[in-house]
Formats: sequence, C-alpha cells, structure tokens
Amino acid sequence: MDPITLAAELVRAGPICDRCLGRRFAGLGPGLSNVERGRTLRAAAQGGAPVAPERCWVCRGVWDSLAARAREAADLVADREFRTFLFGVHLTPRQEAVEEFLDERFPSPWAEPLRRDLNRALGQAFERALAERGREATVDFARPDVQFTVDLETGRIELVVAPTFFYGRYRKLVRGIPQTHWPCRSCRGRGCASCGGTGKQYPLSVEELVLPAFLSATGGTGGHLHGAGREDIDARMLGRGRPFVVEVKEPRRRRIDLAAVAEEIHRAAEGRVEILDLRPGSPELVAQVKEEHADKRYRARVEFGEPVSGEALARALEALVGEIEQRTPERVRHRRADLVRRRRVHAAKGALVSPTEAEVEILCQGGLYVKELVSGDGGATQPNLAALLGVPAKVAELDVLDVLDGSWGGPIAASTAPR
Ligand SMILES: [Zn+2]
Ligand SMILES: [Zn+2]
Repeated sequence: MDPITLAAELVRAGPICDRCLGRRFAGLGPGLSNVERGRTLRAAAQGGAPVAPERCWVCRGVWDSLAARAREAADLVADREFRTFLFGVHLTPRQEAVEEFLDERFPSPWAEPLRRDLNRALGQAFERALAERGREATVDFARPDVQFTVDLETGRIELVVAPTFFYGRYRKLVRGIPQTHWPCRSCRGRGCASCGGTGKQYPLSVEELVLPAFLSATGGTGGHLHGAGREDIDARMLGRGRPFVVEVKEPRRRRIDLAAVAEEIHRAAEGRVEILDLRPGSPELVAQVKEEHADKRYRARVEFGEPVSGEALARALEALVGEIEQRTPERVRHRRADLVRRRRVHAAKGALVSPTEAEVEILCQGGLYVKELVSGDGGATQPNLAALLGVPAKVAELDVLDVLDGSWGGPIAASTAPR
C-alpha cells in the first residue's frame, strides 16, 4: 500500500495527532520530525484539520506530561556528575494494546515504535530540564553514565548509575596481606570466635587499603579491586607493581583528583602498599587485566634440606630453563581446577647465601607456581629444582620483582580510552 492511502485510512480510523500519524511513516522523509511528516501526509491524504494530541486516540497527549518526568529525573541526579544519559520507558497497558492494534490493522514498513518516540522525547525534555539547571549531558545508547526507566503507568522513575573505573599498579611492600579480603576459613565470613567476629581470615588486604580513598573521592557506595593475577599472601609485590582496575559502584563524582587519591592511600597504608600510574579506566580494562598472563620476575629465598655446591646450583638452575609441566599445586587444588599446565621458565639464576640457602631469580610465564617449581610439590611439577639438585628445597621468602605486562606504555595504555 502506498503511504498516502495508508495515511488516509489512519486519519479515517479516529482522531490522530500529527506526531502519531507521522510516526507510522518514520522511515520516510529523512530529516523530518514525526510531527512534520504527519502534517505533510495529512495534507496529501486530505485528512482535514490537525488534531490536538490531547484528543489523539493513540497517544492521548502523553507528550505534555514528559517535561515533568524529565524534571523529576533531573532532580534524581542533581548531586551526581555524569556526561551521558539514556531514557527507557515502560508503556502503559493501553499504549501497548494500541501499538499492537496499529501494527495489525494498519501495518506499515516505515513505522517507528511509540516507545522509541517517547524515549527520544524524554531525552530532549531531560536536556531542557538540565539546561534550566545550567547543566548539560548527551544521550549515549551504548554505555550511559546514568540510565532512567520511566513507568508511564505509575509515573515511577528508576535510576541506574553506571560504575566508574580507574587503572593503576600496586606495590605490596610487606608480607601477609592478601590482594582482596578473604572470608574466615572457620565461619566462611559470617563471623566467629576465631576471626573475632570480623568474618575475615586476614585483618587487611590490598583492596581494603586502596578502595576507601576511591570511595571517599567518588562518593561511591562500594567497589572492587580487580587485579591482573595475584601474588601469594606471603609474597611481596615489588618493582613497577601489579596492574589493577578499581571499579566504583554508583559514583557521585567521576572525574577525581587521582594524585590526591594516591596520596590518601599512601597515608592510610603506612608503607604497606604503594600505588603507581593511576589513570581513568574502563570496563574493558577489567577483562583485559584479568585475562593478561604477563611474564613475571621472581626473587626467592630458597632453603635446602642438605648442603649444595655453587656449581650444582648453577647447573640445576640452567636445567630449569625451558618448559615446565605443572599440575595444580596441592595447596590450591581445593579452589582451582586440577589440571596440568605447561609454562616456560625463560631464565633462572642464583647464588648461595650459605651451603643450605640460596637467593634465586626466575623469569617465567604468568601462571607458573614458583614455590612448587622449587619444591617439586611431591613430583607434581616437572622438572623442579629439588629433583635437579637431589635435595629437598623450599621457598622461604618470595618477592614478585616485576609484572612484565604491556601496560607500561604498551598495548593496554594505547587502548585505555579515558571515561
Ligand atoms: Zn497522538
Ligand atoms: Zn570466622
């Protein structure tokens, strides 16, 4: 059916406003508004005088009420920083029924859904409401800072505030601090006598030292530290630190003084944790740091069950370079999949400190468990230093000297679109 014949049928079906008439032909006449499109088609179809929206059987003048909804939305975010927004609506049951009826009785390949017209109208009304308050923001369909859902039946407005993200690297300068808080082993976090009611296995974590400064700067309600892997609780994290992304939920402020945040973290951490390289992050970066298996450089203080010679140590370390087959260590089998990994040791060197003690440096692929590379883990890691030396060996102290990821001016930095 041609558009003018269809328009004539619509006009005959009942009083319809220009906007609702034009919306049935939204795919025609690019650059026109639905009102302009409707006016043109009404004239072409000899549809008589325009109909006021209040008398329109399709919309019943819903448009006028949108300014008030938009102002309420603006009030909801009066004390929040945002640059982008998006509106969605729940139609009333009557509006749903009318849409269905129109599609069935007056099918049009050019029609735009009422919902989309309403979303756009709300967005425009919202921009005006913001302008009244001296603010501005733009619509963003992909990832808005704030998203409103307006229920046109009840008038209720639901607000969802998108989290905000910050990238950084942490150095952990003391042993005994996990990266994120660990639930108490006895009570699994409920609180018991052995954890003093805290529900925590360790009183502190890197996350707990880092997050509060972000929360107070952003006014967020909570958050997480997503690390690019994690070192053992008893290992220090030195060098340029380990990459992380902090996610802050429901922030009130998004652009914050990151130097001041770092300063606040350092003040509270009292030398236990240091933060480097803070900058704005993104949700993509969370996945990126979590998936990254960067090469790592370790320093281990190794103790031997019997004296060894310097030559024997040098030979064993040389033999350690290459591919390692490592079954998931016994100590983590309860929480990690039990499988055999293949990881490379790129380089290994070391020197005896005493006949039964050495300091060893190992450069290896991410995901290799260094303690088991030294001890052998009952044969579950092959080759291993203990077997190569023919004496029991264990790591007494471990430091991560470097996480050799691409983010030091590399791929991560290039793809970090500040938000
Ligand atoms: Zn209408
Ligand atoms: Zn407990």
